[in-house]
Amino acid sequence: MAKLFASEYCVAVTGESFRIHGGYGYSQEYEIERLMREAPFLLIGEGTSEIQKTITSRGLLREYRSNPDASPPAL
Ligand SMILES: Cc1cc2nc3c(=O)[nH]c(=O)nc-3n(C[C@H](O)[C@H](O)[C@H](O)COP(=O)(O)OP(=O)(O)OC[C@H]3O[C@@H](n4cnc5c(N)ncnc54)[C@H](O)[C@@H]3O)c2cc1C
Repeated sequence: MAKLFASEYCVAVTGESFRIHGGYGYSQEYEIERLMREAPFLLIGEGTSEIQKTITSRGLLREYRSNPDASPPAL
């Protein structure tokens, strides 16, 4: 869950920063150009976000099937 959250957040924040930089976002003079190239890898490497969600969902379902009266975790 931490990897999923951190990856998605990083890509979102990088995208926002890119927009704030305007045309400079494409310039190699600024760090944002590298971040824009590299951040999307976080959604793929070491398990894609979709697979992370599948693994998390499976774990939560298994937990609630074994204890249906438990209150859901705060997400
Ligand atoms: C440069 C690079 C480095 C990598 N490094 C690592 C590493 O260090 N460790 C590691 O474990 N893996 C690593 N991987 C593998 C990576 O985490 C993915 O598991 C792998 O790239 C996915 O396989 P695929 O490219 O054939 O895509 P596919 O499996 O064909 O997936 C394509 C798209 O479909 C989605 N998808 C696939 N199956 C499902 C499903 N059942 N439900 C919903 N959506 C689905 C995927 O999320 C993805 O968006 C790396 C991959 C690359 C390209």
